[in-house]
Amino acid sequence: MSFSYTNAVDLAAGIAAGDFSAREVATSFLDRIAETDDQLNAFLAVDVSGALATADAIDAARARGEALGPLAGVPVAVKDVLTTKGLPTTCGSKMLEGWIPAYDATVTANLRNAGAVIIGKTNMDEFAMGSSTENSAFGPTRNPWDAGRIPGGSSGGSAVAVAARQAPLSIGTDTGGSIRQPAAMTGVVGVKPTYGGVSRYGLVALASSLDQAGPFATTVADAAMLHAVMAGHDPRDSTSIDAPVPPVVQAAANPDVKGMRIGVVKQLTGEGFQREVREHFQESLDALADAGAEIVEVSCPHFEYALAAYYLILPSEASSNLAKFDAMRYGLRVGDDGDRSVEQVMALTREAGFGPEVKRRIMLGTYALSSGYYDAYYGQAQKVRTLIANDFAAAFSQADVLATPTAPTTAFPLGEKVDDPLSMYLQDIATIPANLAGIPGMSVPVGLDDQGLPIGLQFMAPAMADDRLYVAGGALEAAIGWEARP
Ligand code: GLN
Repeated sequence: MSFSYTNAVDLAAGIAAGDFSAREVATSFLDRIAETDDQLNAFLAVDVSGALATADAIDAARARGEALGPLAGVPVAVKDVLTTKGLPTTCGSKMLEGWIPAYDATVTANLRNAGAVIIGKTNMDEFAMGSSTENSAFGPTRNPWDAGRIPGGSSGGSAVAVAARQAPLSIGTDTGGSIRQPAAMTGVVGVKPTYGGVSRYGLVALASSLDQAGPFATTVADAAMLHAVMAGHDPRDSTSIDAPVPPVVQAAANPDVKGMRIGVVKQLTGEGFQREVREHFQESLDALADAGAEIVEVSCPHFEYALAAYYLILPSEASSNLAKFDAMRYGLRVGDDGDRSVEQVMALTREAGFGPEVKRRIMLGTYALSSGYYDAYYGQAQKVRTLIANDFAAAFSQADVLATPTAPTTAFPLGEKVDDPLSMYLQDIATIPANLAGIPGMSVPVGLDDQGLPIGLQFMAPAMADDRLYVAGGALEAAIGWEARP
């Protein structure tokens, strides 16, 4: 590299100052992708010509003395569940293979307006269902810390793109943990913003009441810079919050936890978590206490029902959202030979186009929503959701932020859990409550286990207090000074 890359904030500043060109930066990350992605499979599409054209346009604008956006010339990789005009969007599924959207998601448009260079689309579990990226129809993504292991999921490609320095920043989506868990597995920062804080327009829906897009980055300040660009009110998303974006950049710039009350969720610290995960969690709390935070214990008794409620609500919403993939409107069409009925073509296409996990959830959701069962399953799950929100409200009366380990284990070997959906689902035990309640969460890397695999710590904050995550996360990052790279 003709420039030294440490983090995205410095990269943006270097481009703005003319220390190096956007083209040099784009070329160097494209080279890195070309060198590493045969092994890692983090990208489903790399937009070489588009990235270079955007970079050249930034360099030309700078030469003319025009004002540049906050991400001018900074490469960003985008999860393949967000639409990108003119670039394929597959959602990791054969169902959408070959589909080229005619429009940009609001997140994509916000990136372009900020001057970001969209470098490619990242691999993911099919329609964001999974915790390992093994449910991608295009092969799994591998963890750069150990290529025999999963990178987490469903946003595994985006997490790996940042961890392996294929891109300084990336975008993921998180419905039950799909940003925070892969961030933990790959040793990067990942944030799920407040539900409604980032527009869902153009985000292909998994479960509409839970989905949120958010940033992956190497540092807390880098994540804040991307978060601020992604977020904001959007009239095209009816659940978008019409309020100013929380001051995340300012929070990350001044991460002082003196007097901050950090609540440890009693129900999420026990034996179910790997020994090293618990040890690093405790050491992190000690470091935060040394930095002036007050550590308190809080109890969230209804969290034990969170996973069960999630696996009723998510399949119910997913089965309804995925009904639109009917072979008529987008992507794949199988068996349309003139003799078959529309229904037969739909059935053959859905049989061929969806993988096993997607089919499992469509069946679960269709059952849970069927007449006679609706109240017993979906209705009950919605009540649990309220109880969990009440638990959070009580906890936030005692604490400013909450802390838990992000995931129960570090990265597991490829193939280990593919035939055991329940143990795969348990990966999200600590992350799902935040989605059910709509509150923001962040995973910060805090160390390595005995095998050299990354461990994450999760912070959660009240809705629209995302800035508190950046205070706590920034303080923890500064206190433990963890900067290991694969
Ligand atoms: N692993 C969880 C699931 O399979 C979460 C997925 C996500 O957040 N998109 O549903």
